[in-house]
Amino acid sequence: MSDQTNPFLIAQQQFDMAAELLNLSDGIRAVLRVPQRELTVNFPVKMDDGSTQMFTGYRVQHNLGRGPVKGGIRYHPQVDIDEVRALAMWMTWKCALVNIPYGGAKGGVIVDPKLLSIHELERMTRRFASEISILLGPEKDIPAPDVNTNAQIMAWIMDTISMHRGYTVRAVITGKPINVGGSLGRVEATGRGVSLMVRECARRRGQPLEGMRVVVQGFGNVGSTAAILLEQLGCKVIGISDATGGYYRGSGLDIAAMRTFTDRHSFRMLEGYSAPGVERISGTELLELDCDVLIPAALENQITEQNAARIQAKLIVEGANGPTTPAADTILNARGITVVPDILANAGGVIVSYFEWVQGLQEFFWTEQDVNDKLERIIVGAFDQVWALAEQRKLPLRTAAYLLSVQRVADANDTRGVYP
Ligand code: NAD
Repeated sequence: MSDQTNPFLIAQQQFDMAAELLNLSDGIRAVLRVPQRELTVNFPVKMDDGSTQMFTGYRVQHNLGRGPVKGGIRYHPQVDIDEVRALAMWMTWKCALVNIPYGGAKGGVIVDPKLLSIHELERMTRRFASEISILLGPEKDIPAPDVNTNAQIMAWIMDTISMHRGYTVRAVITGKPINVGGSLGRVEATGRGVSLMVRECARRRGQPLEGMRVVVQGFGNVGSTAAILLEQLGCKVIGISDATGGYYRGSGLDIAAMRTFTDRHSFRMLEGYSAPGVERISGTELLELDCDVLIPAALENQITEQNAARIQAKLIVEGANGPTTPAADTILNARGITVVPDILANAGGVIVSYFEWVQGLQEFFWTEQDVNDKLERIIVGAFDQVWALAEQRKLPLRTAAYLLSVQRVADANDTRGVYP
């Protein structure tokens, strides 16, 4: 991985830019530039054939200044410590931007879960949860789903921590199934937030949503929900891709049919999907399609110096974390393309995770309407603040979002002071 695509170096570069504009002191810059805690775990798992396989995983807590830390757990062969550090730092800014009382964390295991049986996946999850349990707790560190992890995996982690403690610890994790204390609306929350960001940008520019051409990269939790909700708002989703390639139909794809297809396949893959008029295209071609809105909702470093000049969308809404490199950002800004940054665009997930945590602690559960209304109020409120600052100071939305969030985190750390 080059320096230009190392997510942690990118995260630090983004922070440095904000720290400079905010004129932060050297002391607070030094504190916030690095993660507060990092745990690496190497652990064995019994495989179905009787052999033992070693796995490596991480849990990184970037900053505890604003409260317990929060962030997802990713299962992917390309997970590494720098990726987890970056994702943890981005969680700190995201939680501060939408003003929920958390610091940022992230976890990951280097694994391709598609190669494990369901029993191996469960044993690996439970052992990883045990290994990082010294960090976890409702008042300490609360994980959630991320790439290749889902509600069932969250339930196993919740159960493992509960078995250690000897009683049910609901609020130790979010993104759980409803029947063990999950929140209504959590599964859809990140995609819902993404769709609200598209709606708000269209509103600001006086553009109708009806017929707006949308392309989505990634058809997992975030991408598929965003596509469904945008279709409901009247948009036309013309391109979708997942790890197996891209699908294009100029008159609009049948998102419901694609979702039904992936729901029937393990890991929700589109491989094998076909329908009249649907063309197969490459993942690279998908990003460069002629469209109004591009939603990267897969992994980091998808829009880079290499393809930024060829992106045809007028609006990019970052469902994924870190999909755009700083070099690409510069090109997109110069071309007048609006980018709603990840720390705002995909904050819907952590907002409803916060609601799930609150409901779990209170043992009092809300209606889906209540959850969705509160989510909309918070994320649209944050969007309004970012948009206003960007207009006022003639800044890209990402810079405005960083100024607001980094200042809040710096203030909290400053107010608490340096112990001892
Ligand atoms: P997921 O595992 O449900 O889905 C990931 C999707 O990306 C899958 O469809 C996969 O096939 C696809 N993909 C992987 N590599 C690809 C490639 N090279 N090209 C095209 N598609 C590819 O994961 P998710 O939860 O939807 O997360 C997606 C992104 O959103 C990640 O960046 C994650 O950090 C971020 N995010 C997720 C949440 C959440 O609540 N799940 C919240 C905030 C941010």
